[in-house]
Amino acid sequence: MVTLGTASAPPGEMDTGRLPVGETRDGSEIGLPVAVVNGARDGKTLYIQAVSDGDELNGLGVIQRLVPQLDPDELSGVVLLVGIVNYHGFQVAEHRNPIDDTKLNRTYPGDENGTSSERISAATFEAARRADLVLDLHQGSTSCMLNETRVRCGRRHRLHRDCLELAKVFGCGYIIDQKGPNGQLARVAPDEGIPTIDPELGGAVGWDDESIRKGVDGVFNVLYRYGFLNGDVETRSQTRATGFDQYGSPRGGLVSFEKSLGDEVSRGDTLFRITDPFGGVKSEITADSSGIFWRHRRLPQVASGEYVCSVGTNIDEY
Ligand SMILES: [Zn+2]
Repeated sequence: MVTLGTASAPPGEMDTGRLPVGETRDGSEIGLPVAVVNGARDGKTLYIQAVSDGDELNGLGVIQRLVPQLDPDELSGVVLLVGIVNYHGFQVAEHRNPIDDTKLNRTYPGDENGTSSERISAATFEAARRADLVLDLHQGSTSCMLNETRVRCGRRHRLHRDCLELAKVFGCGYIIDQKGPNGQLARVAPDEGIPTIDPELGGAVGWDDESIRKGVDGVFNVLYRYGFLNGDVETRSQTRATGFDQYGSPRGGLVSFEKSLGDEVSRGDTLFRITDPFGGVKSEITADSSGIFWRHRRLPQVASGEYVCSVGTNIDEY
């Protein structure tokens, strides 16, 4: 029998339930929606979670399409899923957990007696620690971004190669290989010996079908390659960035981009212009280094100093 929260499944079956993480302000008990898919045969354990940032719904779209396609009779091993991690952020479609105004993916491994976010991290980390592989499904929030996968353990970590291999198998096409900030699941779980990646499935307000499809394909790639399902998958070479330059606006106004997502950028190329409401150009911003145009803001209006776009740098094929 495999159990996660109130979900419990014997070999060859699946179950859904709730993982208790405390109480709301009115005293109602709350639990994260979880699923256990217990394969008919022994094998590895895969842990998948989504919506640790409350406005990032593509990962939930992946889980929602994935689970009905998983047949426990055909599965070797176990898939543990948490559909919505940032319970409170999800309710109000906000990135951060509004209860403690915290970005949840900075609080791993969590603390069961800590803040609201730390308690949720502790409960989900306990589930993640049971796995051999971890997928923490994210996206570039509500901005516009490539479909990519992040390796966050850092290039000197003993699991770096394993995490990078997992990212390649997932196969979004692009990888950011750069040590993440403290408290990220994809940075902390490798310390426990678990290869972990952070697929970043585009960026959207609500759901983006193409990004969700990429995510579903990525999970199936992992299931085939690591022996959960019979069959294999051909890995493709990925475009890897080990640097990530962010550009802000020097002036207030309206942004018009000169590059599209995925475009090659050469040093000195114009990335964007800032215009006034009557079309007058106030400023033209060029690239400091070459790379790939990776992410940009969704809304055209910016204040001086506000985020505009990012370029992945130090590009190679992996
Ligand atoms: Zn995120």
